[in-house]
Amino acid sequence: MRPVRKPMIAGNWKMYKTRDEALQFVYAVNMKVPNKTLVDTVVCAQATVLRDLVKRKGENLEIGAQNMHEDIEGAYTGEISAAMLENIGVSYVVVGHSERRQYFAETDEAVNKKALQALRYDITPIVCIGESLALREKGETESFVGAQLDAALSSMSKEQVQQIVIAYEPIWAIGTGKTATDEQADQTIGFIRERIEKLYDLETAQEVRILYGGSVKPENIAGLMAKPHIDGALVGGASLNAQSFLDIVDAAQPKK
Ligand code: 13P
Repeated sequence: MRPVRKPMIAGNWKMYKTRDEALQFVYAVNMKVPNKTLVDTVVCAQATVLRDLVKRKGENLEIGAQNMHEDIEGAYTGEISAAMLENIGVSYVVVGHSERRQYFAETDEAVNKKALQALRYDITPIVCIGESLALREKGETESFVGAQLDAALSSMSKEQVQQIVIAYEPIWAIGTGKTATDEQADQTIGFIRERIEKLYDLETAQEVRILYGGSVKPENIAGLMAKPHIDGALVGGASLNAQSFLDIVDAAQPKK
């Protein structure tokens, strides 16, 4: 029987939206987001608007950051710590997004440290992993994604793994309009779940939520959600518009 994992939809706004635009979005969705007992709805926004969004969000919406530094504090110009995020009421943080790995040289080791540090502050890390098109074409998806996963979970206890969220985002599907097919996404996410079972145990593999990300839209979310291993989505472009974000969240609700 399929274990009951609460579905989750997280918007990743990337470097979009001024303060005014961000607040407009939150006012538009606040009353329409489904009850948080049914689905976890999260918006991961840029640092400058996090505090305002936390103050103005409705009770069924949660606010996440898009990055953080792994240390408690220090001389790291431009960086933000988990303590700072926790202090303003942020409850999620994206770590290891492929754009951060690619453009800001975020390493597997840093991703692991960031995830562990977020957990220390009761912030849920959304840990991103995913292969490039070249790796997929060479048939190396599983070996690459598996190694990224192992590194991200290094020295994490099973209790900690059960609290994190993993996002499988094939790089070739991000911002390209080219979604992985439901089968491709489910197959790799199933592989990730199996690997967690081998690294930990069945209970942990059944508890951990794994999202798909890459060109998710209102039109393709239902097919993805119908797959056994996919628990939700990390949504870029389609999360910028309030209505398309709400349509995706609606489609992710458990069917009666
Ligand atoms: P798109 O939904 O725009 O393809 O972006 C996916 C993504 O990178 C979410 O983190």
